Amino acid sequence: MSDTIGLYIHIPFCHSKCPYCDFFSIRGNKTDYSGYVNLLESKIKSWGKKIDKMVDTVYIGGGTPSILGAQLICYILDCVKNNFKVTDDAEITMEANPFSGKIFDFAEVKRHGVNRVSLGVQSANDNELKILGRIHSLDNVKNTLFLIKDGGIKNISLDIMLGIPEQTKESLKKSIDFCFDSGVTHISSYILKIEEGTFFHKHRERYDFPDEDTTADLYLFAVDYLAEKGFKQYEISNFSKKGYESKHNLKYWNLDDYLGIGPAAHSCVNKKRFYYNRSIEDFKNDDIVDEGAGASRKEYIMLRLRLTEGLYFEKYKEVYGELPSKDFFSKTDKYCKMGFMKTDGKSVSFTPSGFLLSNSIIADLI
Ligand code: SF4
Repeated sequence: MSDTIGLYIHIPFCHSKCPYCDFFSIRGNKTDYSGYVNLLESKIKSWGKKIDKMVDTVYIGGGTPSILGAQLICYILDCVKNNFKVTDDAEITMEANPFSGKIFDFAEVKRHGVNRVSLGVQSANDNELKILGRIHSLDNVKNTLFLIKDGGIKNISLDIMLGIPEQTKESLKKSIDFCFDSGVTHISSYILKIEEGTFFHKHRERYDFPDEDTTADLYLFAVDYLAEKGFKQYEISNFSKKGYESKHNLKYWNLDDYLGIGPAAHSCVNKKRFYYNRSIEDFKNDDIVDEGAGASRKEYIMLRLRLTEGLYFEKYKEVYGELPSKDFFSKTDKYCKMGFMKTDGKSVSFTPSGFLLSNSIIADLI
């Protein structure tokens, strides 16, 4: 069991609801923000008494954390430091939105420990931003990036989206070039999914969503072009310059301990999984859903294969006392021959085209 832990704090407020979003987020106002931060404070205090591990990553996500303003973010960070043992070199990330980010005091949060910002850009093309219902423009992104860097934060991650209606290889190239020219260290590149319950799902006939083949082409193009630009893929959707992989997110895929505080936040502590419902009221009432034992063999295979490093057989044996089953090896051999996986005899991992089919391949493997 590890003696370090990652801490995730969920801020469930946004300026408006993006039509594709199925995260737990609501529209709020200033009273809601300070009331919520008080609630967080009480939960952070009570979790701090139960967790004795060193916190080596903190991730304030959402929702839109920057909507709170720097003062409240600093208050949360101080609260974390006063109630948990946070390592001196902890990676402390906050998510920001270019709309609220353009007036956010990044220098202030840097003074309180934030050393990494993840900015939801999605596209460097205003027509695509409009389709995605984003309320920011490319100019807002530029202003926010200026403020982040001016505030002294150099470790910056940008999110871009693949499979947007009207997106072409050229427009995607423009988005990637924009990220590269901005000098950021990390890029997350997610494929747009039309999730049930979202506006896009309800009104899908209004949009010209690209088909699977077009999206697959965009993904494979992004993987190649990002590599050309010096961003190494380390996970299905994550790319970074050398040494700038997200330490916090790696905990999820390595089955390390993490504690999530806030509605919809998930945790895995000492191989036990639990989560808060998507409800501020349930969070307030400490209504925690127990998911039972985590870190099962299936989970290990599923999460390790999200990483380009893949699954190391000896490491698996160290954890579970034996190698994966014969059936697993015969199936991975088959997928290697098909070009969806690759192996060097010590490990197995997906190729970029395999990542596109990873859900069904993993389901077959486990
Ligand atoms: S800003 Fe992010 S969390 Fe908020 S609604 Fe849009 S996609 Fe969802």
